[in-house]
Amino acid sequence: MYEAQRLSLVEKIHQKGITNKEVLKALNRVERHLFVPKALEHHAYTDVALPIGSGQTISQPYTVAYMTQALDLKVGDKVLEIGTGSGYQAAVLNSMGMKVYSIERQFDIYLKTQKLFDEMQLRIVVRFGDGTIGWEEYSPFEGIIVTAGSPKIPIALKKQLAVGGKMVIPVGDRNSQVLITITKIDEETFEEKESPQFTFVPLIGREGWSQ
Ligand code: SAM
Repeated sequence: MYEAQRLSLVEKIHQKGITNKEVLKALNRVERHLFVPKALEHHAYTDVALPIGSGQTISQPYTVAYMTQALDLKVGDKVLEIGTGSGYQAAVLNSMGMKVYSIERQFDIYLKTQKLFDEMQLRIVVRFGDGTIGWEEYSPFEGIIVTAGSPKIPIALKKQLAVGGKMVIPVGDRNSQVLITITKIDEETFEEKESPQFTFVPLIGREGWSQ
């Protein structure tokens, strides 16, 4: 279903500067309409964020593509996602052959998306909780992707990043953030690169916003 619309969306994302072929192929494989509320299904292949209930959103496809490309991962890499939301970003990473671990702090969203992953038989490990403290048990991660806007870079996430790994995180105030891509050079040294402005819902937690 929606094959032509999906292909046209991927073409637009390519024209906007996403060149990683594996990312573009994954966006063409993963059926975004299965991750949005039924009533909004016909908007699934428009390049916009959409509401998913409980005041949250499924990220804009271009943003998903941008962040996935920035992570620069290889097949089999372990990735931690903070903010499972609809599950779409996790499904894109899973479809590229990554081992995905994802944390969601809203219980209703967590339950719904966990059920969806089960129905779709996607092997994505999901946990309910505060992602700003990471998931030490499965660390280190070759990639960490934070899909909510944070006032700062959580220290626990820097610790749980593998040496040579990358974290992509929106940092700024509550209304607007810049995407920061961090590369861990060694346990003490991190390189940071800033990308353009994006807008995300707030990251709420011990090392995020208080509410
Ligand atoms: N990655 C999602 C997708 O593909 O649909 C988009 C997620 S939405 C923009 C951000 C999500 O982050 C929301 O579901 C929100 O509840 C969650 N969130 C906010 N703070 C969090 C935290 N500290 N830990 C885990 N999840 C958090």
